[in-house]
Amino acid sequence: SDRLFGGFRKTSERLSGNLTGVVGTAKLDDATLDEVEDALIVSDLGPAAAARIRAKLSEQRFGREITERELKETVAEEIAAILRPVAKPLEIVAFPRPQVILVIGVNGSGKTTTIAKLAHWFQEDDYGVMLAAGDTFRAAAIGQLATWADRLGVPIVRGPQGGDPASVVFDGVKAATDQGIDTLIVDTAGRLQNKRELMDELEKIRRVLGRLNPEAPHDVVLVLDATNGQNALSQIEVFKQVAGVTGLIMTKLDGTARGGVLVAAAEQYGLPIHAIGVGEQMDDLRPFDPDLVARVIA
Ligand code: GDP
Repeated sequence: SDRLFGGFRKTSERLSGNLTGVVGTAKLDDATLDEVEDALIVSDLGPAAAARIRAKLSEQRFGREITERELKETVAEEIAAILRPVAKPLEIVAFPRPQVILVIGVNGSGKTTTIAKLAHWFQEDDYGVMLAAGDTFRAAAIGQLATWADRLGVPIVRGPQGGDPASVVFDGVKAATDQGIDTLIVDTAGRLQNKRELMDELEKIRRVLGRLNPEAPHDVVLVLDATNGQNALSQIEVFKQVAGVTGLIMTKLDGTARGGVLVAAAEQYGLPIHAIGVGEQMDDLRPFDPDLVARVIA
């Protein structure tokens, strides 16, 4: 919880700072509710969550006095209520194995690091993990994933730079099946500048996977960088169209004051949130605990 708190320190300071001094000794009125709503919006929680929290506050306390402490408690409770329904850990349940987890997201969002963190996570639970270097577009991406595989001691399937990602994934599923691997985690290209190409590439990967196992990919996890704030939300929009997202992992919650975007994502999209990233190391992935997060940020 200490490290989690550390991860949300700036977000918490921002939200708390924005809510400080909003309520006075007067009774809760519309002007104060406006201010609360504005404070939530500028804290990156988004208009929908802000309106919802405002409505709750109004319903509970309109025309009555409210202390700053009570205000923050109500905000925390409502944030938890928004987050609880989307908290869903990524579990290895596929039968037959391997469970194929496609990891998508724009370059720089923390995709490769998140794959390493997930691999480490599953290893800790004694699952056999294999990686597939499906981002064949960037030479650095293959090398970076291979370095992680080395450090983690997990096998990796890779092809030549510029090769066909679908063929890498095909080889990966074959190898994982032969070796009795529990989960194959697949890196993919994140070239959102060329949406059509990316869509075709992901569709081809899906097609090839589906031919090997109609249930694959079992998960399509979108990695989002919290420091992008509201732009992270438009990435959800695009990737939903391009790839059919089944869940989210938000990264870089350490060192940003924009962690409120997690609440905005939950309220606006309702997609499962699997975990959060709070650092660059392999053990910097945290389970998504909605009550803890709500308590920490508000
Ligand atoms: P990719 O291009 O999406 O594969 O992104 P990378 O995994 O290479 O990450 C881009 C940069 O963000 C790297 O310097 C990572 O170390 C860093 N990074 C990834 N996740 C986190 C995180 O949770 N917190 C912080 N502070 N940095 C992160």
